[in-house]
Amino acid sequence: VKENGKNDYMLHHGDMDHIALHKLTIQHEMRRALLNKEFLLYYQPQYDLASSQIVGMEALVRWNHPERGLVSPGEFIPAAEESGIIVPLGDWVIEEACKQNKAWQDAGMPKIPVSVNLSMRQFSQRNLTDKVNEILQQTGLESRYLELEITESMTMDVERASQCLKELTDLGVNISIDDFGTGYSSFHYLKNLPIARLKIDRSFVRDIQQDPNDAAIVAAIIAMAHNLQLQVIAEGVETEKQVLFLRSHRCDEMQGYFGSPPLSSAGVQELLLEKHNR
Ligand code: C2E
Ligand code: CA
Ligand code: CA
Ligand code: CA
Repeated sequence: VKENGKNDYMLHHGDMDHIALHKLTIQHEMRRALLNKEFLLYYQPQYDLASSQIVGMEALVRWNHPERGLVSPGEFIPAAEESGIIVPLGDWVIEEACKQNKAWQDAGMPKIPVSVNLSMRQFSQRNLTDKVNEILQQTGLESRYLELEITESMTMDVERASQCLKELTDLGVNISIDDFGTGYSSFHYLKNLPIARLKIDRSFVRDIQQDPNDAAIVAAIIAMAHNLQLQVIAEGVETEKQVLFLRSHRCDEMQGYFGSPPLSSAGVQELLLEKHNR
C-alpha cells in the first residue's frame, strides 16, 4: 500500500493538486507578464446625464496574454489579490492611468479625471499615499484628475480608513465608493469619511424598469447622496429607459454600454477628439 501511496494520493487529491497547480501557474505567469509588459488599460467613459458630455473615465486592466489573447480582470484579479501580486500590478495601473491622462491633456484633449480601482491589499499599505504622491509628481498629472475607487468592505475599520482617506484627499485626490449597495453599508462611514461620490452598483440599475424595489433603491441612493453633498454615478447603464429614469431622479452621471464599452487608449482618443471637435 505504501508503495502505491503516491499514486493513491494523486488519484484522490487530483483535483486539489490541479487547482493548486493552476494557482501557482497563474501567479508565476503574472510575475512574468508584469516584467514583459503584457498588462494594458482600457478606459470606460463616464457621462454627465444632463449634458451628455464625457466627464470622466474608469481605467480597467486587461492582460494581453501571448497565447490566450485579451484576458479580462475577473479571471486574474482574484489570484493577483490572493498572491499579493495585486500590489505591484496595482501600482503599475495607477502610474499608467496617470501617465496616459497627462499625455491626453498635453495633446489638447479636454481635461477629465481618470478613476482607478484600488484593492484591499493596496489600501492596507502604509505607504500608499507616498506612492500616489510620487506617481503624481513623476507624471505631472494634477491630483484633481485622479480618482481612487474603494469598496464598502475597505471602510469596515473606520478609524484606519478615515486616516488613509484623509491623507489621500489632502493630496487632492478624489475618493469614490465602488459597487455601492452591495457591501456592508453603514451610514456612519458615509458621514465621517472624505468621500466625493458613490457609484451605484449595476445589479440595482439592471432591472430599474421591471423591479419597483430596485427603482426605489436607486432613487433612494441618489437622494441620500445628494443630501450628503455627494456626487452619484450609475454603473452598468445599458438602455435609454434607464437613462431616462436616472435623469428624472437627477442622478449626476452614468457609465455603461449605453454610453460606451471600455475602450483601448486609441479608442478613447478617437472618441474624445470627435466629441471635442463637434
Ligand atoms: P468594476 O470596478 O465594477 O468595473 C466595471 C465592470 O463592469 C467592468 O468589467 C466593465 O467592463 C463592466 N461594464 C461596464 N459597463 C457595463 C454594462 O453596461 N453592462 C455590463 N454588464 N457590464 C458593464 P471589467 O473590466 O471586466 O472589470 C471587472 C472588475 O475587475 C471591476 O469591476 C473591478 O472590480 C476589477 N478591476 C478591473 N480593473 C482593475 C484594476 O486595475 N485594479 C483592481 N484592483 N481591480 C480591477
Ligand atoms: Ca470600479
Ligand atoms: Ca463597480
Ligand atoms: Ca463590480
